[in-house]
Amino acid sequence: MKCIICEVWSYLIICKRCQYDFLQPRLYKREIRKNFFIYSFYNYEEIQDLLSAKYHFCGDRVLNILALNSFALFAKEFSFNTKSLAIPIDDHTRHEFSHTAILAKHLNSKNITSTYNVLKAQNKVVYAGKKLSFRKKNPRNFILKHIRNKKIILVDDVLTSGTTLKEAFNICSLNNEVLFALCLADAKHKN
Ligand SMILES: [Zn+2]
Repeated sequence: MKCIICEVWSYLIICKRCQYDFLQPRLYKREIRKNFFIYSFYNYEEIQDLLSAKYHFCGDRVLNILALNSFALFAKEFSFNTKSLAIPIDDHTRHEFSHTAILAKHLNSKNITSTYNVLKAQNKVVYAGKKLSFRKKNPRNFILKHIRNKKIILVDDVLTSGTTLKEAFNICSLNNEVLFALCLADAKHKN
């Protein structure tokens, strides 16, 4: 196949060279409520094309490569006094795979256990392109299944207003400690 960035023949959908040149992760930090920090690895604009529908036929492979360059490296370095639980936000499937489940899978490591299908939105409203006022009026109404007394790392793909993560934080904090959240990209950071 051809690398989707440089179009050189490659056995990977993004060749090693382009991964090195374009997918070096940064660690952006945003506090969306007091003492709740979101860490993101990319500026959304930089990877927007890779996440776009144009590549949805191979989106899971693109996402796996992005996650290998970011979430997996983070997991390797991360240590905490107890084992943490990574919870992807609303890991239902779009285009036959779940963005957030793929990201969470790459956190699974010595110090982090990834778990799936436990944090579900009861309201499937689509937020893309909607204003903050709309998001606030239409909460996702998450339910968290069977998770108690854990140290939680929330996982999402793109951070925009933070409305979704705040809502997830509130429900998860009732019976657990939420350490922070990890997102692939932050839509507010500009270079
Ligand atoms: Zn390439």
